[in-house]
Amino acid sequence: MNNTVRKIVIIGNGISGVTCARHVRKRDSSSEILIISGESDHFFSRTALMYIYMGHMKYEHTKPYEDWFWEKNRIALIRGWVTGLDYAAKALTLASGEQMAYDTLILATGSTPNAFGWPGQELKGVQGLYSLQDLEQMEETTPRIQRAVVVGGGLIGIEMAEMFRSRDIPVTFLVRERNFWDAVLPTEEAKLINRHILEHHIDLRLETELKEILADETGSVLGVVTKAGEEIACQFVGLTVGVRPNIDFLKSNNEQLSKQGQSTLELNRGILVSGFFETNIADVYAIGDCAEFRESLAPDRKNIEQVWYTGRMHGETLAYNLTSSTPASYKPGVWFNSAKFLDIEYQTYGHVPPFPLEGSDSIYWEDPNGKVAIRLVYEKESTKLLGVNALGWRLRHAFFDTAIAEGWTMEAVLSNLHKANFNPEFFDSPTKAVIAAYSQKTGVAISRKKTSFFHRIIGSRS
Ligand SMILES: Cc1cc2nc3c(=O)[nH]c(=O)nc-3n(C[C@H](O)[C@H](O)[C@H](O)COP(=O)(O)OP(=O)(O)OC[C@H]3O[C@@H](n4cnc5c(N)ncnc54)[C@H](O)[C@@H]3O)c2cc1C
Repeated sequence: MNNTVRKIVIIGNGISGVTCARHVRKRDSSSEILIISGESDHFFSRTALMYIYMGHMKYEHTKPYEDWFWEKNRIALIRGWVTGLDYAAKALTLASGEQMAYDTLILATGSTPNAFGWPGQELKGVQGLYSLQDLEQMEETTPRIQRAVVVGGGLIGIEMAEMFRSRDIPVTFLVRERNFWDAVLPTEEAKLINRHILEHHIDLRLETELKEILADETGSVLGVVTKAGEEIACQFVGLTVGVRPNIDFLKSNNEQLSKQGQSTLELNRGILVSGFFETNIADVYAIGDCAEFRESLAPDRKNIEQVWYTGRMHGETLAYNLTSSTPASYKPGVWFNSAKFLDIEYQTYGHVPPFPLEGSDSIYWEDPNGKVAIRLVYEKESTKLLGVNALGWRLRHAFFDTAIAEGWTMEAVLSNLHKANFNPEFFDSPTKAVIAAYSQKTGVAISRKKTSFFHRIIGSRS
């Protein structure tokens, strides 16, 4: 890691690659920076793909930067797929046959949707949702769809179901688990979302697994068969059973390199990296969804982080390290994720396991209408806050980030909870009810602190 003039090549123009490029440029005006991507000419917000289909946004609106931004900041862009890498020669090859050299290579190739070898998964009308090309394919198939079947009860599955419902296309949603996304959500939250899905006229089938996909005479989808033997007629099957690091081309490349007796890139589920995003090959780094940390970051953190904000943090950290004489290891901070389950917003902070862990407890409060809920998980003995799930209640990120990082007790959290509220339409009611739920469970009375949140959270903590 040094700050001499060099050519930095980044494969992938997603949030991690682009953040890295921007931050290198901010700190280093001399290095050449080139971003290569096969998917699109410019960076766009992948999280907004559904809104393009639903007609809320045009593709142009999903680009966080104007097209002139790149030239102005001397970040060169190439549209193309990288097919070969020669780490010894520090060179790469594009599908077009073009070759180019690099001094520093950053792999930011993202994820790819899973498919588990179901019979018929290659048929026309079967697809995942990850890329712009996936969206285009969905759009192309849409006029033929009388019913869509979405397989896999997770964040992208529910988005896909909502996309079809926005066009009045009937959807059957196959979820293998007992409740929606219950490998992640505790049962109460998962059941709240089950009910919400049904209210949106989505045919939710819990504990239902796909067995095979049936074809018509043209090779298009005709229906699915579940493991229970039920046949469901449909013209589209959405496979939304999670994603995995997009490293298949790197695996094939490794095979070529090892035939030539050359060093290969160490891969596991993703590209193995240190806390500094270094791979086993000098001057080659990996960030974002495709990177897998060799060492665990923290007991409750996964070694592959597949969310937007961590991609941004990876990019920022690596940019700093590439331009600094005092590189710093990645500090993941308090886990945070947010999503939307139809029109219910979801936020999660810290560690909220789907089942209670020994030594921890939680309170769960749900609004009588079943549209707003919060769970606070805490250490039993000390009552230190460990994690939070919120549904339909937008909370101030800084409040819970600080509370978990600093180990606030439940008393400190609850007496300040009204300051965490970000929903203008809410005033006190959810806060009071949550405090009442805690007091009822523990017998501890809590009174509200009056200092303003912006006055300083820290000052009103104890
Ligand atoms: C539909 C959807 C909704 C999502 N919603 C949320 C959300 O609400 N919140 C959240 O936190 N996260 C969400 N995510 C996840 C989030 O979008 C990803 O974590 C993030 O985009 C990953 O960024 P990245 O930079 O690692 O890779 P990517 O954004 O995947 O970018 C990688 C790029 O590299 C390109 N590439 C790969 N291989 C090559 C190659 N060989 N040659 C050239 N180019 C290549 C790819 O085509 C792609 O353009 C969502 C994802 C999807 C698919």
